[in-house]
Order: sequence, then C-alpha cells, then structure tokens
Amino acid sequence: MTLQDTSSCPCGTGLSTPQCCGRYHQGEPAPTPEALMRSRYTAFVLELHDYLLTTWHSSTRPRTLAPDPQTQWKGLSIVKSELDSPKASSQTEGGSVHFRAYFKERERWHMLEENSRFVKEGGRWWYVNGTPVVVRLKPRRNDPCFCGSGRKLKLCCKE
Ligand SMILES: [Zn+2]
Ligand SMILES: [Zn+2]
Repeated sequence: MTLQDTSSCPCGTGLSTPQCCGRYHQGEPAPTPEALMRSRYTAFVLELHDYLLTTWHSSTRPRTLAPDPQTQWKGLSIVKSELDSPKASSQTEGGSVHFRAYFKERERWHMLEENSRFVKEGGRWWYVNGTPVVVRLKPRRNDPCFCGSGRKLKLCCKE
C-alpha cells in the first residue's frame, strides 16, 4: 500500500494521511484512544488488516479478519472521547471513544455507531471491544453526503 501525500486522511482531520493516521500505521504509538480509533478506521478504509489485528488487545483479538469487500467506508464522526478517571487501585489506564462511521454496501448507506473501549499497556493503547450498532440510513438525494465533503449526496460518493 502506498500512501499518497496529497490525499487527506480518511478519518477526516483534514491532514494528509502520512501526517495523520499513517504515522501510527508505520509504528508510532497512538498517543490517545481517539488517535488509535481514528487510525483503525483509516486502516479499514485502506484495508490494512494487519494493523487492525496488531492494535487489538490480545484478550479479545480475533484470529483473522474477513471484512466484507462490499463495504465501503465513507466517513467518520467522533461523538465523544474520554479517558477514565484514574483509580488508585488500578495500574491500567483506560479510555473510550464513541463514534459514528458511515459506509455504503451494495448502494445502501448505513451507519455504524459504537462505543469502543481502549486500554494502555506497555506504553501503547489497545482496542479492547465495543458495542457496535448498525442502522440502515434512508437519505434523500439532496441531503449532504455522509463523507463530510459538503456536497449533495446525489453528486458525491457515487461508487
Ligand atoms: Zn487520520
Ligand atoms: Zn461523499
């Protein structure tokens, strides 16, 4: 996979991919749960399945991933991200990210909404699990596109 310097990162920060999630794909530790979540979203878009597995906590990591090739990830919005308040009894740092991700599957728009859990171990954040809920969207053709381009749906994200 070659990263194009000119393309903006799929996670929607407006930065180029190498300046944004690409750094974490190359091995730099993501500094926050949100940064890790964004980089995992971008890994779904770019089909970096190894990255998804290597950032998954060993206690919950699946052996393999088989993403549906029909699923086209189109946009991400972060609803809320927060770090757990530190507990004296616990050595482990944790955090959560509530997000909405938009995808198209066989010409139909869907939204995945999830509250993901992350823990920090060995100086790195890890994805633990989440509570994904997928809903079918029924947008109108003149609605703004879910990818965040600002264009109307009918003029955007055709494929
Ligand atoms: Zn990014
Ligand atoms: Zn679009």
